[in-house]
Amino acid sequence: MVGLLQHLGLAEDTCGACGLKFKGSGQGFVCEDCLNRLKPYHPMDYSKRLLYVHSYRVFGLYEGILREVIQCIKFYRSKALALRLGQIIRNHIWEYMEDVRPDLITFPSLNPRRFWSRGFNHMEYLLKGAEVPYVRVFKRLDLKPPLAMLKKEERKRAVLGHRLKEELLQYLEGKRVLVVDDLLTTGSTIERLAYLLLSVGAEEVHAYFVGRG
Ligand SMILES: [Zn+2]
Repeated sequence: MVGLLQHLGLAEDTCGACGLKFKGSGQGFVCEDCLNRLKPYHPMDYSKRLLYVHSYRVFGLYEGILREVIQCIKFYRSKALALRLGQIIRNHIWEYMEDVRPDLITFPSLNPRRFWSRGFNHMEYLLKGAEVPYVRVFKRLDLKPPLAMLKKEERKRAVLGHRLKEELLQYLEGKRVLVVDDLLTTGSTIERLAYLLLSVGAEEVHAYFVGRG
């Protein structure tokens, strides 16, 4: 979070992660030295079970440089940084794809309000950067929560806004699907997405996350 404050006008030419001045030109938020320090975290704890999900893999912990990068992508709507992060996870996600051999790869849709305020889906640019081909199978309804709802209930309700595109329902039958998302926290989003996919006959659902909260 140091970075976000710095970027709010205090020091525009410094890296959000290490605070040092940029050498040369980068994508402008996190320096190449910091980006080059991003490596798959090992050993990751996979004891957490995710309902309906056959297997999953995570690139790193949502802290330090990785957290800064993901926050910058969202806060500054940086396509360049999303592409760059995609390059960084490229080998890791492709290794996993060799294990899982998915028939198709996809990512969650943003809710319409968020999409319009951000202008792009960062996961799409991340996958472009990682050179992973994808199919958009999800859409999102904006289920506005009643005002009095507690945060937790609000999140639960938001999860219900995920839907499959009707025109792809048949296509999903018998498919091994890999869903890629930025963060694994409670797992409620991926569980909802996996449930939707299995309910229309997908054979298996696997998941890949960039960070774990
Ligand atoms: Zn740095």
